Amino acid sequence: MSLARDNFLRHLAQTSESPIGLEIDRAEGSWIYTTDGRRYLDLIAGIGVSALGHGNAAVLSAIAAQARRHLHVMVYGEYIIDVQARLAAYIAELLPAGLGRIYFTNSGAEAIEGALKVARKHTGRAGLIAFDGAYHGDTMAALALMGNPVFRAPFEPLPGPVRHLPYNEERALEAIDQTVAAVVIEPVQAEGGVRIPDRAFMAALRERCDHAGAILIFDEVLTGFGRIGRLFALEHFGVVPDIVVLAKALGGGLPLGAFCGSDELIAKLSHDPPLGHITTFGGHPLSCAAGLASLEAIVNGRWWEAAQRAGEQIRAGVSGFGGSEIVEVRGLGLLIGIEFAEHAIACRFVAETIARGAIVIWGLNADRVVRLAPPLTINATEIEFGIEAMRGALESVREGE
Ligand code: PMP
Repeated sequence: MSLARDNFLRHLAQTSESPIGLEIDRAEGSWIYTTDGRRYLDLIAGIGVSALGHGNAAVLSAIAAQARRHLHVMVYGEYIIDVQARLAAYIAELLPAGLGRIYFTNSGAEAIEGALKVARKHTGRAGLIAFDGAYHGDTMAALALMGNPVFRAPFEPLPGPVRHLPYNEERALEAIDQTVAAVVIEPVQAEGGVRIPDRAFMAALRERCDHAGAILIFDEVLTGFGRIGRLFALEHFGVVPDIVVLAKALGGGLPLGAFCGSDELIAKLSHDPPLGHITTFGGHPLSCAAGLASLEAIVNGRWWEAAQRAGEQIRAGVSGFGGSEIVEVRGLGLLIGIEFAEHAIACRFVAETIARGAIVIWGLNADRVVRLAPPLTINATEIEFGIEAMRGALESVREGE
């Protein structure tokens, strides 16, 4: 056993009893290279982070330039930090009007927490609504929104009251009433098994929130930045929320989250009391530099269009496998779910695919659904490699039956 593996097993907090355990050497483009000389196609992009693949040259040089200029100074709203202000202005330009005031955080969960605080203070109400299958992060309030009781139960009581409604069921939206501060939704559920709601449902949700005076929060942590074939998923649905939450690809591979809303809403955090929501590192200059370079590259390259084409190629390839093990292949752009008939088969499929050199995972709240979220820059040859790895994995799962 290598020293790194020994240290990992002895001293790092383990998050499951069966880590994938690849020993990483380096990563480049769509590939991760391990210390045993193998390479793996990264079909999950570090869980939806590395939109431009690993080691994008523009992102690396922006990080180096910012590192030479300055690292941490004090980043939450006191000093004027050029790269942070430029990234905020660029995000504001790309989002619909009314979402142009940006609060940077370190992570997706932290941005969800901030958005909930805004909604509570703005409405003076306590109630929160989330959806079955939802995943919004693992801090206490984000966890309270988790649409899977298995993950909530050991940590209760959690902040609330939270009601969970069935996803994509218009009639259930009647529960959004005048006690509700915020409704939080992923425009496409990722950990919930890549579930895509109807446009009519999203329009009804907007209408119901307006009617009840509740703040509508879109969690675009995973769907943002081109992944679903549009720059933001809200464009796909033609619905503008009151707050949009971003993270993952936002930082171009460095930690960065954000919640974005109107001047009026986000101003709630600046008075009564002032400094009522601050963070030591949120909006770190290095993360903002990487994020700005990454976002410029995504926009200038119109990478959401490539994501649409690549997504079609993957869905067509996997749909061609045939057999009864796979129930459905679905997705938007490069957020793809392969639904299996049974969890045990999905599990073996994941292990066999990784053994064949392509990394895939299953959804936390939908363990029969294998999830793909590759870099938007993945090319047709790489996709073919991935499809062949998955085809081989499925055949070996069948032979094992
Ligand atoms: N929302 C969604 C939709 C996510 O997928 C995730 C992370 N998987 C989060 C929120 C939480 O983000 P973070 O891990 O940065 O806290």
